[in-house]
Amino acid sequence: MFTPLTGRSVIVTGGSRGIGRGIARVFAAAGARVLIVARDEGAARSAVAEIRSAGGDASSLLVDLAEPASAERLAAAAIERHGGIDVLCCNAGIYPATPLRELTAERIDEVLAVNVRSAMLSVRACLPAMERAGGGRVILTSSITGPITGYPGWSHYGASKAAQLGFLRTAAIELARAKVTINAILPGNILTEGLDDLGEVYLRQMERSIPLGRLGSVEDVAHAALFLASDEAGYITGQTLVVDGGQVLPESLMALEEG
Ligand code: NAP
Repeated sequence: MFTPLTGRSVIVTGGSRGIGRGIARVFAAAGARVLIVARDEGAARSAVAEIRSAGGDASSLLVDLAEPASAERLAAAAIERHGGIDVLCCNAGIYPATPLRELTAERIDEVLAVNVRSAMLSVRACLPAMERAGGGRVILTSSITGPITGYPGWSHYGASKAAQLGFLRTAAIELARAKVTINAILPGNILTEGLDDLGEVYLRQMERSIPLGRLGSVEDVAHAALFLASDEAGYITGQTLVVDGGQVLPESLMALEEG
């Protein structure tokens, strides 16, 4: 049995939709006080309402994480509302598909600003409060795309997700002195509102490429994050946890068919 997160101050960037919303919901159900960070007011409000109606503690902060100043704002909001910061989930990310031949400097910068720079600046902004608390947890939502696999149209996205891991490995050493751990989750194909738009045929095909025979749920990722945020995971830092139903394992289609 893991120690509950009762009263812990948790920030979830991108907590209004998809995986982040699942993380916010699961952490709130575990007793945490959750600050949801996103841009769209309607989605953020609905995520907060969902948590509150289940008896949880949540509020939202509307900022654009592409703006460097947003990092200090989210740290200040969590300190003001919760009295400190225990867990930072850097989950917000964008994945606009663009073939390499059409890639522009602006598109690359846009993806890196949200997926990489905002995570790095948010960690820096939250560190003093975690140090004051005697420790903390940072959890990055990376991806299998980039660190392990590739997919046409997502070279810039893959680069951003691999960059998160480069950051993680040095950050883990620097943060260790403050008793702050930092780890990354690498989700495979997770069923979110966004993937729903890709249609039944795509989803059925995707299922066939996953040994466990289904796409992941947002809860599959959230429970991995919850473990990494627990007291019991305090000796794990600088590591990656793949949550993909075995998707990266088969060497070929034949390996899957023979299995
Ligand atoms: P999603 O459903 O599109 O949700 C993205 C979240 O990030 C929303 O809450 C969004 O809110 C927020 N966000 C995006 N840009 C932002 C900005 N500039 N400022 C503030 N908030 C911003 O995405 P998802 O599929 O759940 O993905 C979440 C994370 O998991 C991403 O890092 C993604 O790379 C990673 N991932 C997803 C999958 C998958 O299968 N879904 C697989 C591997 C990795 P607003 O739009 O309101 O700002």
